[in-house]
Amino acid sequence: MSERAERLAAAARERDLDLLLVSGEPNVRWLTGFTGSSAVAVLRVAADAPGGVFVTDFRYVTQASEQVPPLWDRRQATQELLGAGLGEHFPVWDGPGLPRVGFDDARVTVAELERVRDAIGDRAELVPAAGLVERLRELKDSGEVSRIREAAHLADHALTEVLGRGLVGRTEAQIGLDLEVTIRRHGAEAISFPPIIASGAHGALPHAVPRATVIEPGVLVTIDWGAQLDGYCSDCTRTFAAGAEPGPEERAIYDLVLEAQQAALAAVRPGPLGREIDAVARDIITAAGHGEHFGHGLGHGVGLEIHEGPRISRLGETALAPQMTVTVEPGVYIPGLCGVRIEDLVVVTETGADVLNTLPTALQVVD
Ligand code: ZN
Ligand code: ZN
Repeated sequence: MSERAERLAAAARERDLDLLLVSGEPNVRWLTGFTGSSAVAVLRVAADAPGGVFVTDFRYVTQASEQVPPLWDRRQATQELLGAGLGEHFPVWDGPGLPRVGFDDARVTVAELERVRDAIGDRAELVPAAGLVERLRELKDSGEVSRIREAAHLADHALTEVLGRGLVGRTEAQIGLDLEVTIRRHGAEAISFPPIIASGAHGALPHAVPRATVIEPGVLVTIDWGAQLDGYCSDCTRTFAAGAEPGPEERAIYDLVLEAQQAALAAVRPGPLGREIDAVARDIITAAGHGEHFGHGLGHGVGLEIHEGPRISRLGETALAPQMTVTVEPGVYIPGLCGVRIEDLVVVTETGADVLNTLPTALQVVD
C-alpha cells in the first residue's frame, strides 16, 4: 500500500497540492486496503513524509485497525466524516500559508463540500482534484489482474452451468436469478452488476432489464454478466441463439458484430488511444450501414468498479498501456428486430491483449 501512497503523492505534487482528501469507497480501498463503506484518507503529499491520516467512524474502528497499515494514522471521528469529523482530525499544518488541499470534485457532493468548507475552510485552500486516484487505478498490479481473471473464469463457469439448464421456455427474469445465485454459489462475493438477459426484439435495448417474458425458440438472447471477487469485477457479454439457428438478418448482424469485435481485439496493444481502438470496430460497423445502430462506446476499464477508466470510446484520449484491463464490446441494435453484443475483458500486455474470458465467441445455439 505504501507504494500506492507514494505514487499518488507524486501525482498530487505535480498539481502543487500539499494534502489530498481521498473519499469514495473504491479509491479509499485502493489506497489503504480498507473495505468498509465509511472513511476518508488525508494523504500527505510531501516526498519525505508519505502516509497521512485515516478517519473512519465507530462502526469500523476494529476493521480499520486490521486492514489499514500503520503508515496511516488511524482515527475515529465522532461527527460526519466529510464535515466536522474531518475537522476533528485534520492534520496540523506548519508550512507557510494555508495548505493546498485537493478534493474529489467528481465524487464529493455539493452538500458535503459545504460541510467540509465549514469544518476546515479557515485552515485549508480547497482545490478540485478529481481523477488522480482513478488514473493510477487504470494500471493494475499482478495481484489485481489475477483477481479479475479469477472473477472472469468464475463468471464463465456460472453461465455455462446456467445454460446447461436451458434458455428456451424459461423467462429472462428466471435466467437472471439463476445466474445471480449460481455466481454466488461458485464463490463470488457478489454479482458485479445485475445481469442483462434480453431476448428477441428486447435485445435492441443495450441495458435491458430482464422481463417475465418466456424465451421463444429462434430468437437471439443477449446475456451481459459479471462476478465480483475480492472487490474486483468481471464483465462479459455473449449473444446466443435460443433453440435454433436465427434468421438470415439476425445471423448477418451477429457476423458483423463478431468481425468488428475480433478486429478491435486484434488492435489492442500498448500505444493506441482509446478512441483509435473504438474506431477500428466502429468503421467496420459503419461501412456495413449500421453505424447509427452502434450508439455506445466500444469499451471501458474494469477493476474495483465495473465501469472505470480508461475510456475506449470516441472520447477516449488515454493511450493503452500494459496492465490496463479493458472491455471490447461492440453492439448492433435493430429496433423491433434484435440486438447483438459481444464483449470480452482483456488485459493489455507488452505486445497485445490477453483475453480473460474463456467462452467462445462463435454463435452457439442453446436449447
Ligand atoms: Zn458487460
Ligand atoms: Zn462492459
